Amino acid sequence: MTAPRALLAGGGLALGLLLGACTASTPADAPPTPTESVSATDPPSPAAPSGPASRTPQPPTTSPTPIPTRNPAPEFDARDALADIETLADDIGPREATSKNFAEAADLVEKRLEKLGYDVTTEKVTVPAGNSWGTPVRSGTSRNVIADPVKFDDEKPHVVVVAHLDTVPVAPGAEDNASGVSVLLELARMTAAAPPDLPVRFIAFGAEEPRGAGDALHHFGSQQHVDDLSKAERRAIRAVVALDRVGVRASSVPVCSARASGNDLRGDVRAAARKVDVPTRSCGGNTTSGHWSYVKAGVPGIRLGSVPYAGYHSPGDTPDVVDRRQIDRVGTVMWAWLQSL
Ligand SMILES: [Zn+2]
Repeated sequence: MTAPRALLAGGGLALGLLLGACTASTPADAPPTPTESVSATDPPSPAAPSGPASRTPQPPTTSPTPIPTRNPAPEFDARDALADIETLADDIGPREATSKNFAEAADLVEKRLEKLGYDVTTEKVTVPAGNSWGTPVRSGTSRNVIADPVKFDDEKPHVVVVAHLDTVPVAPGAEDNASGVSVLLELARMTAAAPPDLPVRFIAFGAEEPRGAGDALHHFGSQQHVDDLSKAERRAIRAVVALDRVGVRASSVPVCSARASGNDLRGDVRAAARKVDVPTRSCGGNTTSGHWSYVKAGVPGIRLGSVPYAGYHSPGDTPDVVDRRQIDRVGTVMWAWLQSL
């Protein structure tokens, strides 16, 4: 089997930044990006010799003035995100929560986040046998992958960005939900390079997809994680955003609350989107992703994504259903929101 490309190779911060710099040009169908923050000024060239006459020995000049270097502001790179989607959906394929493929995907995400400098921990998630969208599934274990910044204190104010890594058994899950995972990984890279004021915890959840009907047979990874949080830990979470099915082409980015408790957060994210000229639309009553486990526990949570598409939960959920511009919008909105905290 070919080594998954992007998750292994593209993980380095340096490479990521390099790629970011190389792909700063705007895709033809994307709105113009704001002026680049990287100064394009050339370093001052050494004084040119003023002709053959200037051979007289000169006093030694001082060593060249060092050019002040400034880390360029990180930019969301939708191409890197698409490469990750291909790795997950094409190279690895369907990632049922207890499968070998899921474990492989979780390993890759874990390594990537470690390489970015996060403290990465995992949680074992036990799931029952059942039926996943028409396919019988056995009981087994899945995994949550949690990435915290160094010296993170989960009892101090922070925000949480989550995406589920598993799929239903028949689907390669490019849109559902390699798209969300790929945006999460890009945001983790950017956050590592330029941490927002409020610390960000990133979680790739296992076992989100249903194994039967009803709320109790859904969102196992996030539900277990939230159940295990202490009161103080829950209170410290200022906001949770679930990225779930965020790449299908649409005229806007759905920003969805589950209950009224998420409406302020939804407003904040939409306000951040307006500042970067990304169209969004509001929706409510969305209880079908990891944010719901938090909302039920009293934490403000919303979900980005949920545009309907033909390949949903089918073998047709391949990378071609994902639109680069939409991925770029979601990444841009999320980064703008994280910056606004
Ligand atoms: Zn999903």
